[in-house]
Amino acid sequence: MSTDLIDVHAPAIEVRGLVKSFGDNEVLKGIDLTVTAGEVVCVIGPSGSGKSTLLRSVNRLEEPTGGSILIEGIDITDEDVDIDRVRTRIGMVFQSFNLFPHLSVLDNLTLAQRRVKKRSKAESEKVAHEMLGRVGLSEKASAFPGHLSGGQQQRVAIARALCMNPDMMLFDEPTSALDPELVGEVLQVMRSLADEGMTMLVVTHEMGFAREVGSRLIFMDGGHIVEEGDPRQVLANPQHPRTQDFLSRVL
Ligand code: ADP
Ligand code: MG
Repeated sequence: MSTDLIDVHAPAIEVRGLVKSFGDNEVLKGIDLTVTAGEVVCVIGPSGSGKSTLLRSVNRLEEPTGGSILIEGIDITDEDVDIDRVRTRIGMVFQSFNLFPHLSVLDNLTLAQRRVKKRSKAESEKVAHEMLGRVGLSEKASAFPGHLSGGQQQRVAIARALCMNPDMMLFDEPTSALDPELVGEVLQVMRSLADEGMTMLVVTHEMGFAREVGSRLIFMDGGHIVEEGDPRQVLANPQHPRTQDFLSRVL
């Protein structure tokens, strides 16, 4: 199937029986997950449970060992797929901001637009300024990343992802590297994205965010989805002993 033919009725993300091994170490043991357009799905779980591997598999930064992953109906595990093209629909934000330190904020935001989207300098700068406004950093266009706080750098990283006009955003512990007083400003940007209807898959330890913004909460342990449901219900009344144990240690 051509990647031009997006199935508008397909879920944003559909993961079926996903298995991922590193050598003998099977870290994802059959994950089934469907994310519908507009959903905000939060993923929690202990360190090493496979959360990052799941997220990275969704845009094939990891090659699945088994199972399939469909993005808007396109099977990205199909060897004929134009993965670069599918990736332009998926914004990803990591714990480390990964900005280019030698480039200004504006140049960080225009680089991929020009190279991947083939936008003109003027158009890419227009989009960049618009997205900087969305994350509340209009005045920082000419700053260099090293002169920004961690919270501001992460907001720039979110703006950079948004410049590609993604259909969905993946966040892998976006606030875990931040000083506590800087966490709120990043969560606020993510909350406004959610309010605008962005499809989001968010690995986070911020239970308040999961409770208030998440449309669904998934608990992972040992490469399995152990429990999922309405975030308020899972957090207040976890059903599985492993979820209960995890939450009793983090809440
Ligand atoms: P989480 O994000 O939940 O902390 P990860 O997905 O990062 O968990 O890791 C799950 C398991 O996979 C861990 O045991 C980790 O050591 C292993 N792992 C992750 N990435 C690699 C890799 N590139 N090579 C080998 N093992 C890896
Ligand atoms: Mg991780």
